[in-house]
Amino acid sequence: MNMPNQTQSVTRDKLYCKKCSRGLMFPVIEEGEAEYTENYQCNNCGHVATIPSVLIIVSQLFTGIVGGLFSLVLFIEELETLMTAFQFNISVSIATDMALLSIALIFIAGFTFTVFRAVRDIRKRKSYRIPLH
Ligand SMILES: [Zn+2]
Repeated sequence: MNMPNQTQSVTRDKLYCKKCSRGLMFPVIEEGEAEYTENYQCNNCGHVATIPSVLIIVSQLFTGIVGGLFSLVLFIEELETLMTAFQFNISVSIATDMALLSIALIFIAGFTFTVFRAVRDIRKRKSYRIPLH
């Protein structure tokens, strides 16, 4: 592991060390690794922390919201089909419709979880942006 390089990482948003409250957290980029690392190290006390990157948070939010909306539309459409079938006594394969509804629900739950995780990551990143001293 290389020591954080200060000159290399002039970031717009400063991340403060929570441990010593004196140093700044700099990304630890190992060779062959992507630039948007989540591993940070304090330039003062050497405290290592995982701070979610903005890129990952944004992609999580995007996936969660778009995927969630898409699943919701599918769910509502499927529910409408089922309701119409019941209303007009049209024989439909209830088992198939129920299965589709369940799958849509699972997807909605999954995407909701993704959004929640992104929000948690935003909070975590934000907590490093407040200087303690
Ligand atoms: Zn520190």
